[in-house]
Formats: sequence, structure tokens, C-alpha cells
Amino acid sequence: MKKLSLATKILIGLILGVIVGLFTPLDFATTFIKPFGDLFLRLIKMIIVPLVLASLVVGAASVGDVKKLGRIGGKTMAYYLLTSAFAVVVGLVMANILQPGAGLDIPVDATYEGREAPPIAAVLLDIIPENPVGAMVNASMLQIIAFALFLGIAITLVGERANPVKDFFDGLAEVMYKITGIVMAYAPIGVFGLIVPVVAKHGLDVLAPLAMVILAVYLGCFLHAAVVYSSAVKFLGKMNPLTYYKGIAPAALVAFTTCSSSGTLPVTIKCVEENLGISKEISSFCLPLGATVNMDGTAVYMGVCALFVAQVYGLDLSFSQQLTIVLVGTLASIGAAGVPGAGLIMLTMTLTAVNLPLEGVALVAGIDRILDMARTCVNVTGDTSCCVVVAASENDISISPESKVTA
Ligand code: ASP
Repeated sequence: MKKLSLATKILIGLILGVIVGLFTPLDFATTFIKPFGDLFLRLIKMIIVPLVLASLVVGAASVGDVKKLGRIGGKTMAYYLLTSAFAVVVGLVMANILQPGAGLDIPVDATYEGREAPPIAAVLLDIIPENPVGAMVNASMLQIIAFALFLGIAITLVGERANPVKDFFDGLAEVMYKITGIVMAYAPIGVFGLIVPVVAKHGLDVLAPLAMVILAVYLGCFLHAAVVYSSAVKFLGKMNPLTYYKGIAPAALVAFTTCSSSGTLPVTIKCVEENLGISKEISSFCLPLGATVNMDGTAVYMGVCALFVAQVYGLDLSFSQQLTIVLVGTLASIGAAGVPGAGLIMLTMTLTAVNLPLEGVALVAGIDRILDMARTCVNVTGDTSCCVVVAASENDISISPESKVTA
């Protein structure tokens, strides 16, 4: 019998988890099944900080010249920004068509306490760590990225004498990839352990009143991926979209169940390098950055939820208000950390920008986990599509000839 691929095994874990979750009492699921999922989460979280630091230093240092690094960085950021802004528009369109809040009278989730989003200047300043070691201790991803980029650029500028430093980080990154490989063997069980308690908690009836919001977010996420990523990969990346989706499937599934782009990062890097043949130079630059700043699924969600809240409260949003949602929604998605539930906190920023009631956040809080799964899956997929596009533009892709698109 043919050996099942890792993606297939993870998918089986996910489907079994949904079925078992429907019939398992919440208490049992939380006490006995959730720990298997938590173990998986802890294992991949353990890898993140050293991996991001090492791979980004190596990525930045191995580009070899600062000008090329600037070019790759420019392309990456342009792709991330454009696709995120487009994603908010997709979300707005979905909510305009499906009208998820029309005629709804939803009880506010009293357990959710709204939190103010921090001002933008503070968010920007906070990117530079006062103490890089502190940044690592607190796993502040943006700060680690900033420091790693400085290290990488400085290694390039110093030249030969910095080779031992570069070799050290190179070795560290390799060791982290190896640990990722070991941890991934456990992924199917981990995914099962994560999904059972979610389904046990959100049985089908809890979801019913907000079914249209869920539909709008899932459909928006699906369309964004199907249209934007497939065309980007095919036309700009010259790669067969099917090969692409097959290659990144394990990362997409792990993202779906863990709800964390940062947590998925080790798997994402592994898939992009091993299955898509993208050079380490590009992947170790685009992916850690993307896991922290590029969140297209979160952007779709911003669009849907802002309009949903307006509809629930019977408020009409003008065209310019919807444009503001696109701008602020894009920024909010960039500001959202790659951890579970971050999008919900940043939603306050979008709602505030167009004077929508903040209680709206509490409306979606109850089903946020379900929405988080779809948006994180798209967040991670977006990062990988950027890798393909940038790598193709730099002629830095080595895949088997049959997976190339034949014109
Ligand atoms: N959980 C998402 C992620 O890690 C962020 C969000 O909550 O939107 O990508």
C-alpha cells in the first residue's frame, strides 16, 4: 500500500476530530483530548524564536548585497500590502452581498471585554527593541525581525570576518528545521487534539445565529485564495496552482487548526523549501516577515465584520467610510500578531475608525475561534504565494519541470 503523505494524515486527523467532537461532551474533550493538541502547540511554539532569528539572519546575510535585499524587501512588502488591501475589499463585497447582519437581534457576549487598540505611532516605535534578548524572551516577533535584519545586513557589510557568525546562525536554522521535521510526525494527532474541543464547544446550534457571518468570512477567504493566489502563482510565479496548493497543504492545515501564523511558521518554511523548491534566501526572508505582518484572511474578516456590525446596528456606511475601512483594515491586519484571537483585538481599531459601536466586537467574540481558523489558513497561504512570486521574479525557484505551467 502506498504510504500516506503527511498532508493526508493531517487531513484525516482533522476530519476525525470534527466527527468525534460532535459526539464528545465538552468536559471530556477539554480534560482528556485537548492536552494532545496543547502538546503540539507547545512543541511548535518552542521552535519559533530561534528559528525566526536564525533563518532571517541567514536570509538577509545570504542575499549578499544590500541592494538586492532592498529589492526583495520592496517586492515582498508591495505584494503584502496590495493583497491585504484587496482582501478587505473582498470582505466588504461579501458582507454587502450576503448582508449577514440584516434583521438580526443578537445577544452581546457578556464575557468579552473590549480592549482599546494601541495608537499607530506607538506600534511603529515598538518595532525597534530596546533589548534584543528581552524581545526573544517575550517572543515579540516584529522586534526579533527588526534585530535579525540589522544582524543580517551588518554581516553582509562586515564581510569575511563575520563568517563565523553567519555559519553559526546557518547551523542553528538547520537544527531548527530538523526539530520541525520531528515535531511534524506528531501533527495528525496534534491537529485531532486541537479540533475536538473546538467542535465540542461550538456545536452546530451555537453557530446558527451567526451562520451568515461565518459563511461570509469563509467564502471571502476562499475566493481571495482561489482568485488572487491562484492567479499570482500561475501568472507571476509560473507555477501550476495545483502543485502549489499540494505543496503547502500541511502548512495550511496546521494554520487552520492552530489559529497561529507564527506557530505555523516552521511548517510553512519546510513546505515552501522542500515541496516548492524555493531558495532559502527568499523563503527565510518572506515567511517570517509574512507570518508577522501579512494577514489577508484577517483583512477579509475586518471587511466582513465592520459591515456586519454596521448592519446589526442599522447604520449605513458611506462610500468614503468603506474606503476608510479598507485603509484601516489593512493596517489593522498588519498590526495583528500571528497568534490566536489577535484579529479580534485589532477589529476595535477598524470599528473606531468609522465610529461603529465597539460592542460589535462582543457580537463576534463568541464565534471568533471558528473565524480565526479560516483567516489564519489564508494568512499563511498568502505568505507562501508571495514567496513563489518573489522567488520567480528573482529566478530563484527550482522545481521539477512537470510542475511548471505549460503555456
Ligand atoms: N490568528 C491569526 C494568525 O495567527 C491572526 C488573527 O487573529 O487574525 O494569523
